[in-house]
Amino acid sequence: MPVRIPFDNTYARLPERFFARLKPTPVPGPRLIRVNRPLAESLGIDPASLESAEGLAIFSGNALADGSGPIAQAYAGHQFGGFSPQLGDGRAILLGEVVGRDGIRRDIQLKGSGPTPFSRRGDGRAALGPVLREYLLSEAMAALGLPTTRALAAVMTGEMVPRETMVPGAIFTRVAASHIRVGTFQYFAAQGDVEAVRLLADYAIARHYPQAAETAQPYRALLDGVVARQADLVAQWLLIGFIHGVMNTDNTAISGETIDFGPCAFMDAYDTRAVFSSIDYQGRYAYGNQPNIAFWNLSRLAEALLPLLGENDDAAIAEAKESLAAFAPRFQAAYDAGLRRKIGVVGNDEADTALAHDLLRVMADNGADFTLTFRSLSEADDEAARVLFKDTAAFAGWMERWHRHLAAEGSSPIANRAAMRAVNPVYIPRNHIVEQVIQAAVSAEDFGPFEEFLEVLAQPYEQQPGRERYTLPPTPEERVLQTFCGT
Ligand code: AMP
Ligand code: MG
Repeated sequence: MPVRIPFDNTYARLPERFFARLKPTPVPGPRLIRVNRPLAESLGIDPASLESAEGLAIFSGNALADGSGPIAQAYAGHQFGGFSPQLGDGRAILLGEVVGRDGIRRDIQLKGSGPTPFSRRGDGRAALGPVLREYLLSEAMAALGLPTTRALAAVMTGEMVPRETMVPGAIFTRVAASHIRVGTFQYFAAQGDVEAVRLLADYAIARHYPQAAETAQPYRALLDGVVARQADLVAQWLLIGFIHGVMNTDNTAISGETIDFGPCAFMDAYDTRAVFSSIDYQGRYAYGNQPNIAFWNLSRLAEALLPLLGENDDAAIAEAKESLAAFAPRFQAAYDAGLRRKIGVVGNDEADTALAHDLLRVMADNGADFTLTFRSLSEADDEAARVLFKDTAAFAGWMERWHRHLAAEGSSPIANRAAMRAVNPVYIPRNHIVEQVIQAAVSAEDFGPFEEFLEVLAQPYEQQPGRERYTLPPTPEERVLQTFCGT
């Protein structure tokens, strides 16, 4: 069945130094794992065509759809604080852009499609496990309502790839508002290529911050916009218990979407120091450190934009500082408002916020499960919440205060249920289940558990009868202590 993708490519019209033009490298034995049908439809692509042999050929890199203009994008980035002047798409190829039914332009990118000029020592391939992980996690994030890149398809390549052992290869097809990263700006800034920084900024404004073009200082407005979206994004991550794991500047999207799901994880027990990534030895990217790191990354973006921000250094630095200063209050306001919503409090003064923060403290002291605590409160099920705490008395004290506080607002846990359930999920991609479904696929080519988990995660705020096991924290044997990039 012929595949028609309404490509309309703009990034590939930027100067040649922004990317390398090349085609994906064919694979010997492509097999479709799945196509994301609703996403395909929202992009104006016939899902049935994508599930046909022609679709499989495109997702495996064995054929190019009409209109695609494949490129690997250049970018740099600070990785764990150290600057790499040249990273770039080492195993990804942007096929092109489509304008969806909602009028929004999005990239369609293959990840794991073979070596590029940016591959350095890498093989340009992706392993099945990390492909399934990104599929699950990005779709879960979307269903939870967070800005995120999406999963359009996953295929097996019929090739084994060398990682710690030989593992099945796969290719992930990602959809993103764009793949412009903080590191894309850094790439040109590090070369002193101010013209390229300006072209990229103009492009980013047109694509992501069109209102900025109407202001007196469009580049300052661009920075303000990215600061605001990153502040909101990190607040949402914390409110849902998400740990990105590798918040390098090359993994920070200018669009404000969550991108590059590597060794990311959702927390079980609430702990601000929680780290899962096997390569994050110092806890740089720990759960509670994410706002600091987002600010640090935005500071790197501001540095890259300096030549555009003022007539001279002093003026530019003053603009950058002012812009960055908006991060902390914006983050705090979004985070605090979200926490109050999670406990169903409508007031917004200090006492209301303190009540929410005090719950977090009791949770931290008592190893309470983050997701289950808030969901139990949302079900007005005090007993279910109580048993999550080691010291039930400490929690009972908080509970009493909460009831009194709500009563003073003229409300109650029962009255609040609907609003609280809408922000406190039942289902998150718990790590141990993610690992179980990946294991089944990698070791036995059994994709049933993966499919079922995707179905569960598509309705995270609805109780799904018979699927209680997905709500449970891991048993001690099931606990996953580390997650790996698998790159
Ligand atoms: P990531 O850790 O996925 O954010 O990737 C960091 C950098 O390493 C990017 O430039 C990637 O393109 C590159 N990279 C990661 N894995 C591979 C691989 N298997 N082959 C080539 N490049 C890779
Ligand atoms: Mg990356």
